[in-house]
Amino acid sequence: MGNENKKRVLLTGSLGQIGSELAFALADRYGAENTFTSDVREDSHGILEGAGTFVELDVLSKSDFDSIVRDNDIDTIYHLAALLSAIAEEKPQMAWEINMEGLVNALEVSKENGCSLFVPSSIGAFGPDTPLDNTPQDTIMRPHSMYGVTKVSGELLCDYYNMRFGVDTRGVRFPGIISSKTLPGGGTTDYAVEIYYHAILYGSYTCCLKAGTSLDMMYMPDAIKAAIDLMEADPASLRHRNAFNVTAMHFDPEIIAAEIRKHIPEFTMDYEIDPVRQAIAESWPNYMDDSAAREEWDWLPEYDLARMTDEMLKELGERYGRGELEIES
Ligand code: NAD
Repeated sequence: MGNENKKRVLLTGSLGQIGSELAFALADRYGAENTFTSDVREDSHGILEGAGTFVELDVLSKSDFDSIVRDNDIDTIYHLAALLSAIAEEKPQMAWEINMEGLVNALEVSKENGCSLFVPSSIGAFGPDTPLDNTPQDTIMRPHSMYGVTKVSGELLCDYYNMRFGVDTRGVRFPGIISSKTLPGGGTTDYAVEIYYHAILYGSYTCCLKAGTSLDMMYMPDAIKAAIDLMEADPASLRHRNAFNVTAMHFDPEIIAAEIRKHIPEFTMDYEIDPVRQAIAESWPNYMDDSAAREEWDWLPEYDLARMTDEMLKELGERYGRGELEIES
């Protein structure tokens, strides 16, 4: 590694919320000719067009995974294929299969082909016994959700492959990711994306989490920066390879609604609580301490709630032709 121009990159789960934007950032950085995107689904709407070569890959097929890596001289894998928290509670067995067996395949393929491997963990790896304020980097991890169980197991497995086999595994615990390109895939923090769409399209929103439920969040450009910066970091400086707390902001539904009202004063919000998502959210940190990431690889987010809200409303306002809402900066 070291010479970034030499990287040949494969993304799994590329059609999802993160992959559909990370793919373009990787193609920009390493060249479209060195970027390979993949998903179990076809790219039927061409959303990855221009971000390198797309191939269909079910991460549960180790032999297909291996062939794609070998045939294309891949040296770096961003493994994003997974089921997210709310979906994983509906289909726990399938979540175990995709999140764990898929990960074991990614690790084995990386081991056999000498690839570096990025695997995102999540704030979902924490549980109700974790200190929820200023959640430390190293702390109690006893999640009650299937998603969390797979994320903690994944962190441990990535550490194991690094210590036992020398695989260059790296990862962050992403908070809720907010973006305007691809809708989120069924997580507990999805409300913080939907609220912007509903503000633009309808001027009102029914929130599934209670007022006062604080969670860490991050705007997509910072999530992309975190993934790429960590993969570019000097490995000698990394003590926590696979589970860096990273955050950019934290808020509850009332705070984000108030921020939206600064641009759309008539915006209203009411509540219809989803007990599954609420229970999960209450077991996750109110806000995390991400000083290990700041110290070990200079993590520094660029977007706070105000700047993100400004961009989200501008972007969605332009897309849905609601410029007349007078979105102010
Ligand atoms: P997503 O649900 O939007 O996308 C996941 C993609 O994986 C989908 O396109 C899906 O088709 C694909 N997929 C599912 N099963 C597959 C299989 N067997 N083989 C290949 N592809 C398969 O998820 P995302 O939000 O982009 O998340 C990516 C990663 O980041 C996940 O590991 C997730 O746990 C983690 N993460 C996301 C968030 C967030 O807020 N989005 C927060 C924390 C962690």
